[in-house]
Amino acid sequence: MEYYSKQISRLIAELSSLPGIGAKSAQRLAFHILNMPKDDVNMLANVLVEARNNVHYCKECFTLTDAEICPICGNPKRNHKLIMVVEDTRDLAAYEKTGKYDGVYHVLHGAISPMQGVGPSDIRLKELMQRLQKEDADEVIIATNSSLEGETTAMYISKLLKPTGIKVTRIASGVPVGGDLEYIDEVTLLRALDGRTEL
Ligand code: ZN
Repeated sequence: MEYYSKQISRLIAELSSLPGIGAKSAQRLAFHILNMPKDDVNMLANVLVEARNNVHYCKECFTLTDAEICPICGNPKRNHKLIMVVEDTRDLAAYEKTGKYDGVYHVLHGAISPMQGVGPSDIRLKELMQRLQKEDADEVIIATNSSLEGETTAMYISKLLKPTGIKVTRIASGVPVGGDLEYIDEVTLLRALDGRTEL
């Protein structure tokens, strides 16, 4: 990219390091930003910095939030004895969009993947166990993806929870194999939830 000056090249390089942004998109975004009013660019930059500085994990469910406790955990109307375990905050959002789930969540931030060197201690499993020691849950619904990693994680969690006597269920496999929860439509999500089976 020698035909661009240093700062333009740097902007393109930073943008293309984002997921889903190829070289062409990065160039398009870079020139769009360079043509934006300066105030708008400042605002965009500030929103990025502020979000990164103020967003952290919810103390209870480990989803991303800018408060100490996320709005779901802080809602007394939710069923706090029903805990759905998901891989990431986007999966939580997918279930929230259905508007039909009234329990709470636990966000793992990943799935066990021996191939990629991700072990049980690399995701928020210990935190789930600690949480279950403090609170008495009626049911833990494992809603990890139906990929190899998601299934491995589900099996691991069910084994881990067996001695606790807590009811552990797995969402039905209406979710296509290898499917990312966030891309699956609401009807399928709800069908998977309704059809969950005890492990
Ligand atoms: Zn929370």
